[in-house]
Amino acid sequence: MLRVMTIGIDPARLATMRKREEALMAKRSPRSAAMLQRAHRSMPNGVPMAWMSGLYRFAPIFAQSGDGPAFTDIDDNRYLDFNLCDLSVTMGFNHPAIVGAVSSQIARGAHFLLPTKDAVTVTELLAQRVGVPFWQFTLSASGANTEVIRLARAFTRRDKVVVFDGHYHGHIEETLVKTEGPRSVPALEGLSLDAARHTVIVPFNDLEALDRALTEKDVALVLTEPALTNCNVVLPQKGFLDGVRAITRRYGTLLCLDEAHTFQFAYGGLARAWDARSDFVVLGKGFGTGISFGLYGMSDEVGKFFRDRADIDIGPAGIATGGTLYASAIAAAAARAALEEVLTPASYASVSALGEALAGGLERLFHKHGLNWRAFRCGPRSGYCLAGNLPRNGREAGESLNADFIDTRRLFMANRGIWDAVASAGPQASFAHQRADIAHYLQVAESFLQDLAGG
Ligand code: PMP
Repeated sequence: MLRVMTIGIDPARLATMRKREEALMAKRSPRSAAMLQRAHRSMPNGVPMAWMSGLYRFAPIFAQSGDGPAFTDIDDNRYLDFNLCDLSVTMGFNHPAIVGAVSSQIARGAHFLLPTKDAVTVTELLAQRVGVPFWQFTLSASGANTEVIRLARAFTRRDKVVVFDGHYHGHIEETLVKTEGPRSVPALEGLSLDAARHTVIVPFNDLEALDRALTEKDVALVLTEPALTNCNVVLPQKGFLDGVRAITRRYGTLLCLDEAHTFQFAYGGLARAWDARSDFVVLGKGFGTGISFGLYGMSDEVGKFFRDRADIDIGPAGIATGGTLYASAIAAAAARAALEEVLTPASYASVSALGEALAGGLERLFHKHGLNWRAFRCGPRSGYCLAGNLPRNGREAGESLNADFIDTRRLFMANRGIWDAVASAGPQASFAHQRADIAHYLQVAESFLQDLAGG
């Protein structure tokens, strides 16, 4: 069993550093602090979306503008960003191809509730690039996973969903669940106990456990990322994804690979890179354009089933999908520009090289400072694994997350112009970063580790 090796982390030192960095952050952010006071009067916690108050576990700063991979706040502090809105703006805050496509489309009409030519181009490109033939737009990956679950239920006439421990698939009743004793229960407040009861959680990289969960032939869908990327990173062991495919086929369960993050890790997504097959593929985070859209792709068989059961206003009821802002002309224009102009094989190759430089650099720093840690590595994604071995499942990954370490590191980095990752993921190189940006990150990370070691 892995143990968290806290060698080099003295809790007292961490607490002192955190206090000092909090004071420094407050000193650097007086206008944000004043704005927050005002904002408290019209929004709970002073933010328009709850996560914004707590994602970095220090008082939120107010953003002003972004350029490439960096943004500026209302105190004129500049931050070089290694999270890029949890991969929602990995092309940078103002990529010319996206700015051009979106401004040109909005000037001609933002949305029609009718298809545009761009939607055809996008779905054709995705069919070639990802390998499943039929596609639908949503507003987000949460929306895409929601519709995939419904489709799988309608197709299989079964209710249950299987996810892996360490999963995250968005803001959905069925997947915001945790295990409590033998049962699955809601992981958060406000969710239905009934919905959670239909979800089974099994350990990643454990084919026997998956087989056991599916034998009753009552599971509609297995939903997983090809590599878990929301509990830091857990890579699939050799043969695992093929095994998942074989087991789901054996029991008549559909399989969805959620590539909301990992579509940005390799050209066409990790499933394509690893030749992993499935019935559905989910994409999201507006591919990193900053525009709100998600998509899901489905097999020929499921696509034909869907075609015959579409739900359209009055008339016979079909599968519960869709929303008025889904598949807008702007979303389609942004997606087309992203696929044609930004997400090219060459840019994936260069972002992976940056990721490798980031991971290699972090591991060299750990070694230099006598820390028996590893750097996560998955294409552009890296991160701090506070253990000597990389995790094999969600439980082991959780053991490598140290909240005090993460919070202090992020404050320290922010005070030196680096916006670090959300707690469970990253840092990550992006399509907007250059080599010098990676070097800058590593330089500040080194000062942090030095300070942690006592100067
Ligand atoms: N699936 C995965 C794998 C994700 O990482 C996320 C978000 N981090 C989602 C789904 C949900 O995306 P959104 O919040 O944009 O709906």
